Amino acid sequence: MSYFKEMTCIRCGHPLGGDPFYTGCPVCKAEGVGANYTARYDLAGAKFPGQNGQPGIFRFRDFYPLADDAVPVSIGEGNTPLLKLDRLGEKLGIRNLYVKDESRNPTMSYKDRLCSLILTKARYEGAQAVTIASTGNHGAAAAAYAAAAGMPCVIFTVPQVPETMKTLMQAYGACVIVTPTAVDRWTIMGKCVDQLGWMPISGFQAPAIGSNCYGIDGYKSIAFEIYEQLGNTAPDMISVPACYSDGLYGTFKGACDLKEMGCIEKVPQFVAAEVFGSIEKTLAAGSKDPVSVPSEWSVSFSIANGLCTWQGLEAVRASNGYARSSNDKETMEMQLMLASSEGIYAEASSCTSLVALAKLAKEGKIAPDQKVVAVLTSTGLKDPASTKEKLPPVPTIQPEMDALRDALQSAYGLSI
Ligand SMILES: [Zn+2]
Repeated sequence: MSYFKEMTCIRCGHPLGGDPFYTGCPVCKAEGVGANYTARYDLAGAKFPGQNGQPGIFRFRDFYPLADDAVPVSIGEGNTPLLKLDRLGEKLGIRNLYVKDESRNPTMSYKDRLCSLILTKARYEGAQAVTIASTGNHGAAAAAYAAAAGMPCVIFTVPQVPETMKTLMQAYGACVIVTPTAVDRWTIMGKCVDQLGWMPISGFQAPAIGSNCYGIDGYKSIAFEIYEQLGNTAPDMISVPACYSDGLYGTFKGACDLKEMGCIEKVPQFVAAEVFGSIEKTLAAGSKDPVSVPSEWSVSFSIANGLCTWQGLEAVRASNGYARSSNDKETMEMQLMLASSEGIYAEASSCTSLVALAKLAKEGKIAPDQKVVAVLTSTGLKDPASTKEKLPPVPTIQPEMDALRDALQSAYGLSI
């Protein structure tokens, strides 16, 4: 049986009551601050679950805000590998470096963990359709899980999104619509929710609050899986790419559950890996509420936003963690270093989690015996064009050794 008790505002504790869950807390909104609701639980007597016959991440369903008789919409999400990267770790000066490779999920990103919960709820409640504003990963996951649930899915996106992302979303059967600006996506999405009663998956409020609060706890499963994969212990630090910080906050909540159940003694420090540094600036300014920074298009478009959310701040502050930002050059260098030294091709946005850890190692914030985990949220195959720009053109040669020798030397610097 689910341990779920109630939804309350993450910032002020205001209970959800009869208000819509997707507009965020009205008390905080009146103060000009966006704040999401978050699920609260009563974990008295709760135990870490063993195998229980539930599919994918629904093994942990008692730790989600789902009705006990809701039938899971699952296509095998979760159970992704935790890999120790000795070669990259040596280059970055981190002895115990691990990555949680979330590209092994059904739609190749960790958004599947959130969408499996929301589509389960949407189908259980008889929603007519689901809708989302997305730059790609979240949209692809929404589309796939809507397909598995047998429900229509309408996705609003922006013109700059790579064609690969649009194709993926359409291939899963979603209706993909482009609007001129990011804010326009939220406007039309809000009309669909208000006028048609569609279930929202992403947030669509300004200031941003994060995604549907009934899905975020799907990310708890990342913390639960890491705990098991490290032999029933917690790492010292977990770095997660952060924009609206659903994944960062959900993983943090999972770690808090583990501590509350007595499985671990201490919640790991959480690191927000950003592009422009809104969390970093907010912490440096000592502000309680999100502070915005200038933003523009980035290779890390999945997380390129100038205003963080309250839930992201909470995960970093409550775990005594850090926030570090990455520019495009640092991110793309890390992408190729990871792929060429470990055989893992991660999306640019994902690589910010490693850049942030590399910076912390340089600053002496990671002790030699500490275990650190970077969450790689999606695959590089979602946007191969940005990687191609950093690689030499593939040479064409006649089948002769001299020609091969020249080509290997000139294109790759390899002498034979
Ligand atoms: Zn509030």
